[in-house]
Amino acid sequence: MIFKKFTVGEMGNNNYLLVDNGEAALIDVTGTIPELDAVLKENNAELKYVFLTHAHFDHIMGLKALQDKYSIKVYMHQDEKEILDGTNNFLTAVGMDPIEIPTVDVYLKDGDKVKVGNAELDVIHLPGHTPGGVGYKYEHWLFAGDTIFMNSIGRTDLPGGNHQTLVNSIKERIFTLDDNVIIYTGHGADTSVEYEKKYNSFVQ
Ligand SMILES: [Zn+2]
Repeated sequence: MIFKKFTVGEMGNNNYLLVDNGEAALIDVTGTIPELDAVLKENNAELKYVFLTHAHFDHIMGLKALQDKYSIKVYMHQDEKEILDGTNNFLTAVGMDPIEIPTVDVYLKDGDKVKVGNAELDVIHLPGHTPGGVGYKYEHWLFAGDTIFMNSIGRTDLPGGNHQTLVNSIKERIFTLDDNVIIYTGHGADTSVEYEKKYNSFVQ
């Protein structure tokens, strides 16, 4: 499997395109990725899936347009439904324009596997930033959404957030992975389990 990282939108969201054996999946969809069709073509791949790390608006706001253009199946954790359904209430409350809410095809739970081509990714439930946040793990790569960042952690002051739950997710479900696992975050730089165990002062 190969992947490409795209940084999209005003909040610097990282969206990841995974490609294996003629199939492609996007992890989170913030907006239009101008190079998307060219990259798909280059790799002889068809975009088939979207795997959401969570449903905050900055991770889903490009998804409805993508669904209109491609025939894709969207995957999200079952505990994230309230966040998705509440998107426009939240946006209106903070003075932002509502968005078109995407539909979800498959609801996930911890321990599920998702497939792109011949590659299987493990679904790891990482509640705390939101109730239904997940990481997707493939070999020594973890796509962790907004759970952990380099030297930082996800915010927990938004609806459904819980600081202690988030810290527990990181300690019990990320820091127990191999040290060499690279963490691909929802915003900002990549990091690793080894680095964060040593330097992340929010998780001690
Ligand atoms: Zn978020």
